[in-house]
Amino acid sequence: MDNTYFIETWGCQMNDLDSQRLSGALKLRGYRRVEDEREAGLILLNTCSIREKSEHKVFSRLGELRELKRERGELQIGVCGCVAQQEGERIRERAPWVDFVMGPGNVGYLDEVLSGAKRVAVDFPEDRRYDFLALDRPSATKAQVTIMEGCNKNCTFCIVPTTRGREVSRPFDDVLAEVRASGRVEIELLGQTVNAYRCPVSGRDFGALLAAVAEIDGVARLRFMTSHPAEVNDSMIAAMRDHANISRYLHLPVQSGSSKILRRMKRLYTREKYVETIARIREAIPEIHFSTDVIVGFPGETEEDFEQSLSLVEEIRYGSMFAFKYSPRPGTPSLKLGPPVDDAIASARLTRLFELHERIKRERLESYRGRVLPVLVEGPSRNDPAMFAGRTDDNFVVNFVAGRPPMLGSMLGVRIDQAQHHTLRGEAVA
Ligand code: SAM
Repeated sequence: MDNTYFIETWGCQMNDLDSQRLSGALKLRGYRRVEDEREAGLILLNTCSIREKSEHKVFSRLGELRELKRERGELQIGVCGCVAQQEGERIRERAPWVDFVMGPGNVGYLDEVLSGAKRVAVDFPEDRRYDFLALDRPSATKAQVTIMEGCNKNCTFCIVPTTRGREVSRPFDDVLAEVRASGRVEIELLGQTVNAYRCPVSGRDFGALLAAVAEIDGVARLRFMTSHPAEVNDSMIAAMRDHANISRYLHLPVQSGSSKILRRMKRLYTREKYVETIARIREAIPEIHFSTDVIVGFPGETEEDFEQSLSLVEEIRYGSMFAFKYSPRPGTPSLKLGPPVDDAIASARLTRLFELHERIKRERLESYRGRVLPVLVEGPSRNDPAMFAGRTDDNFVVNFVAGRPPMLGSMLGVRIDQAQHHTLRGEAVA
């Protein structure tokens, strides 16, 4: 039992990747992963603090683990991720049964943490010790590859600059080496502000990196997350336009449709500028689709401001949308901008926004009926073992039937015959 571990992950893709790094490092040290926490000698909670709700979940989970530790004694519990970074020593004060606390900057320092040399590791060491060969990737077809850590933007609502530190880009050649070594057909480049990437050695920008990754043999589909609207430039657009394997789908969080609120959020663009950026991208790549993040109930958001968010969602017709009620985060500048909008009003706005987007998404999914879409095969369907599953370029899951079992990671044409609530159904065509 001593050498077994269990990892639970909350939050964004960066956290998923940190868990893959932790899991890989543990396996390299002779540990074995278990899927039942009761069988584990080491439990890691990789936490998220982007909203208050996610943070509460961590403490209630720690309460449950206290019981487990009481029964078992020798169990080690570690809190990793953004709550670890944000709360540091306070976690062990509040939950003394936690053995160590390890922020995102210290994922490469597992030995020091496990040995007890660092019990509260919340600094950002110069050398992040990124061992990409030790990554434990859960998918045989897709590799997430971090190209930069941290964030230099100062959005007034956001805890990320505190929990993940200042922006640090990885050298260009290291990223290419990792993509090649991964052997995966689908690559997702990750960064909090991925398109602000700049190689620390050569100064090459995100567009240059995109083009170089897209040209690696075997890369059938290339995605990236999360782009900041103010960092979209010609080089990025040209790389997308010139490489058909770069997904025609761009996640471009807008946060609000009101220029007044965007200014209060310090998002560095106005509504007009954002719409112009979308138009520029659409002009170069007419078939592109967008997805977005929206916050409702930000301090000072009036009904009129909110209606501007609705009208923007209607105007851009996002394929996917993630929307959240504003959540005040410790130490963020928005705390000084006055109280959040009344909770009942914010909830009602969130519901209206989701209803609008549901209709837009439905129309998008319905428009695929009868069309043949390129689908990257991920394996058997989760709902029906007689079917297969894959994803469209704009990231919708397609469950489909096929005469012969298709090869994992291959790209197939699938004729869509049904649009379901969030997914599509179809049949592979020859
Ligand atoms: N770095 C990315 C960016 O700037 O767009 C994404 C960071 S975050 C993990 C994902 C989304 O969470 C954000 O785009 C935002 O919509 C939402 N979010 C961040 N802070 C929030 C807060 N304090 N309250 C509510 N939603 C928040």
